[in-house]
Amino acid sequence: MTYTCTHDATHTYTEEIEALGHNYVKSDYVDPTCTTGGWALLICSRCSDMKYEEYEPLGHDLVHHDARAATCTEVGWEAYDTCSRCDYTTYAEIAALGHNYADEVTTEPTCTETGVRTYTCTHDASHTYTEEIAALGHDMVVKQRTEPTTEADGYEIAVCSRCGKTTRTTLPKLSAVKPGDINGDNAVNMRDVLTLRQSMAGGYGISIDASVADLNHDGSVNMRDLLTLRQYLAGGYGIVLTPASGGQPLDDNSTPWISAP
Ligand code: CA
Ligand code: CA
Repeated sequence: MTYTCTHDATHTYTEEIEALGHNYVKSDYVDPTCTTGGWALLICSRCSDMKYEEYEPLGHDLVHHDARAATCTEVGWEAYDTCSRCDYTTYAEIAALGHNYADEVTTEPTCTETGVRTYTCTHDASHTYTEEIAALGHDMVVKQRTEPTTEADGYEIAVCSRCGKTTRTTLPKLSAVKPGDINGDNAVNMRDVLTLRQSMAGGYGISIDASVADLNHDGSVNMRDLLTLRQYLAGGYGIVLTPASGGQPLDDNSTPWISAP
């Protein structure tokens, strides 16, 4: 830059102007990534000077993440890194553990009270559930028994082997009558069948005792009782003759009447 005096042009001086320097602009380029290098063709916007530059890979910009333990129901992971720029990651998932239940009896059942079995997860003791254990029922053992006779009741004393509960059961005295012994000879056989048939036919002057003849306990003496008696004597029908009255009461399992095949 030259300065000239306007009064006298011989009076001048100069100053140096610094060079502008290039103003390079990317003409053609590939930017570097975390793992690959880049390059650029640069051209000065003023003088068209060209230069070529290469760039090293950037390397990952790592972000650290802490480990998290897997639980029974949720996955976990080891400590891992990710890159803030790309999808690089060292993440490795740890599968959920699932429950591993161990059980123990936490309340023992008794003869009359239910017990409790508790299941607890060995991975996490807060994971528990319980199951009911049925009461055991008494284990009655007969300690003393007096058989009934036709004169007197018998009885049976039993004690529970676990809890000591004691019961006394009366055994009703035995009937003096012999079911099926229609003719009163103290045996049950075909003679009784004959007597029963004769009484039902009438005309023989035979009167029979319903307590020994009403074998199916339906309150009357008829052909059904005759059939029951014949089946009893034939065997194979599972028939047990029991007194119609005056003896032990019948239960559902001891009914003497079974339909003829
Ligand atoms: Ca008889
Ligand atoms: Ca009958």
